[in-house]
Amino acid sequence: MTNAQPALADISLASELINIIPAAVFFKSADGRYLGCNSAFEAATGIRKADMLGKTAEEIWPKDLAAAYRAEDEALLRSHGIQTYETQAAYADGSRHEAVVYRTTFSNPDGSPGGIIGVAWDVTDRNQAARALRDQLCFIEQLADTIPSPAFFKDPEGRYLGCNRAFELFCGLKREDIVGKTLFDIWPPDRAQIYNAADEALLKAPGSQSYEAPIRYADGTDHDVIFHRATFKKADGSLGGIVGVFWDITERKRAERALRRSEERFRRIVENAPFGVLVTDANDTMVFANRRFAELFHYHPEQIATLEDWRALAYPDPHYRLEVTTQTASDIEALRSGALQTPPAREVRVVCGDGIVRDIEVVATVEDDLIYSVYNDVTERNRAEQALRDVLQAEALHDPLTALFNRRYLGQALEREFSRAARSGETVSVIMGDIDHFKKINDTFGHDCGDRVLQSIARQLNTHSRRGDIACRYGGEEFTLLLPNAALDIASERADRLREAIRDLSLSCNGQAIGRVTMSFGVATFPQHGDTPEKVLKAADDALMRAKTTGRDRVVSAGLFLPAT
Ligand code: GH3
Ligand code: MG
Ligand code: MG
Repeated sequence: MTNAQPALADISLASELINIIPAAVFFKSADGRYLGCNSAFEAATGIRKADMLGKTAEEIWPKDLAAAYRAEDEALLRSHGIQTYETQAAYADGSRHEAVVYRTTFSNPDGSPGGIIGVAWDVTDRNQAARALRDQLCFIEQLADTIPSPAFFKDPEGRYLGCNRAFELFCGLKREDIVGKTLFDIWPPDRAQIYNAADEALLKAPGSQSYEAPIRYADGTDHDVIFHRATFKKADGSLGGIVGVFWDITERKRAERALRRSEERFRRIVENAPFGVLVTDANDTMVFANRRFAELFHYHPEQIATLEDWRALAYPDPHYRLEVTTQTASDIEALRSGALQTPPAREVRVVCGDGIVRDIEVVATVEDDLIYSVYNDVTERNRAEQALRDVLQAEALHDPLTALFNRRYLGQALEREFSRAARSGETVSVIMGDIDHFKKINDTFGHDCGDRVLQSIARQLNTHSRRGDIACRYGGEEFTLLLPNAALDIASERADRLREAIRDLSLSCNGQAIGRVTMSFGVATFPQHGDTPEKVLKAADDALMRAKTTGRDRVVSAGLFLPAT
């Protein structure tokens, strides 16, 4: 800047030009003194041009920055090139900023080094934004990695742009080996083909896609997954590519299959069970009835939509229906409250669709708001039990050797017949008989032959019985015949006919003739000889004794009964 002076207009134009540059411009001499700056420099740093002219970096900037600037200056002056670097700047308010600086050297007209000219941009905000963006990307990447489901995104040409760790596991490849590759680079052709078709369909109609598919992981394990894929847009709204994630539902599917299998198993058991099953819900609506239910009751499941329908059919008698309904309700309540631990078995009489009334044992259990009723037909069981009871009762009242009624039954019959006779004013006679010298038969022919004789006598008693008569083996070789509605003389006559019939028997045993068997009888009558079974029996027995003592093979009637005074 010595001899060759530039035109004034040129200088003015140059400084105007420098002033309107929106970046901070400064220049300094080769010895490091500031020669000037533009308005953008003043505006950004808050340092006035007048305050910096002729000053060195050490005089203006904090020590650390000044040292750094001085070092850069020296390097630049040595190299004469162009410098671009990022550095720090301190502003007048003491704040520090980040700046990108472009610098070069200039020469004096005489060729001597003139100094340095630099342009600086404050990149603090830009850097901050970039850092924030990097942080955000880093966060998103880590977030993606924490998602246990494989996730990826790719560009519209099908090149992977990124993926998460789960996706790496799925492919068995590292992220860096995936990014930039296409489906065909990393998958066998057949699978690439399938995925590609899905990609193309999605790109053709941008939006989202969800589908279930079986896939095989790189480690050879098979998984059931749900693919969720969607196109994404770039900031400018253009198609950015496809983002996809898949949920592994292998466990869920397995659990579902296991549940289905177990349900099927139970359904099969229930369907083929020999008992009817009816399931109803909290509203008494029928939820399920097994096949046996329909078979058992002969009602079509369609006839029964609710519990009320069922009860109306099964228990047409409203009183009985109310009884059953009340009982069931109280059982259910007790089960719900825990008052009952095990569901009780209740027996009901159900009118079935075929018109037959069946004895049904029903057990109702509750689970949540469902009621399970299990019906078992016990008609046959009841019938068999009744038959058994009948047999037992018959056995209890009969003598096994002769099949005549026993003494126990005689007692009951006497009570019954006497009270009936007392009400109607009729008479009842009792014939009591005892085989004569029976001991001798046993002694002569053996006990078995004695038994045969007892059976023959029993047959005679039956033969000589009339409707309503009751023939009994009183014990040993003693028999009684109860004759309702028979007076003493009639009874005596009948006893005599029996006596004759027995005497006329020709009995034999084991091919041996036994000879004549005779029997003695005593006859007594209610109420003539007593007003209780005991008294009348005693009177008959007394008469029998007299028959024995007066020669046997005869009938003796009881004497007149004299009531005690
Ligand atoms: P009486 O003319 O005085 O009646 O003489 P009896 O021999 O018939 O009378 P006794 O009471 O002396 O004997 C009755 C016999 O009947 C004794 C007993 O062994 C026999 N007896 C009792 N029950 C049975 C039986 O079930 N089968 C056989 N074979 N004998 C019986
Ligand atoms: Mg006897
Ligand atoms: Mg005897």
